[in-house]
Amino acid sequence: MSDTEVNDVLERLCNLLRMETRAFGQKYGLQPVQIDALTYLTQCNRYSNTPQAVGEYLGLTKGTISQSLKVLEQKSLLRKLPDEQDKRVVHLTPTAKGKKLIENAIADKSLAPALANSTKITELASVLRSTLRKVQQMNKRKAFAACHTCRFNEQSKKGYLCGLTQEPLSAQDIQLICREHEYPS
Ligand code: SF4
Repeated sequence: MSDTEVNDVLERLCNLLRMETRAFGQKYGLQPVQIDALTYLTQCNRYSNTPQAVGEYLGLTKGTISQSLKVLEQKSLLRKLPDEQDKRVVHLTPTAKGKKLIENAIADKSLAPALANSTKITELASVLRSTLRKVQQMNKRKAFAACHTCRFNEQSKKGYLCGLTQEPLSAQDIQLICREHEYPS
């Protein structure tokens, strides 16, 4: 398969997934960007759940993202909580209702049935992950990847530690995505 064909297939697949997200969101009066923002907030860590980080992750302006966050808050899908150290910083936490909605949204557009008979899923995932990483590096975009793959992630007998913030990390924390993530060189 040529590079162009791979590009075309990925674009078509992304378009189809976007259509599924739009159709799902319509049932709840939500735009795809609102579903995307809420999905991100169910997957990111405590350093990454600010309005600014949501905007960076989705590549959207502050104005666009604040409108979307307002809708999610009005629908009781997320809560805004002030930072304990710095009251100017706001953290966005999905409510139980918000988490459930995203669980359903993810199930709705799952590729599992289409991949059911594929024997090379591990290789496919590895190629896609490596392609994503290279594209992010070429475009100088933040990785927003899982904490356990970060160069600052340290493990000792006492557990996990973020070498950047010097704060302990739980086993659950290291599965979450982080705006400060950097791959080892
Ligand atoms: S180790 Fe890296 S990814 Fe994990 S919290 Fe620290 S900066 Fe973020």
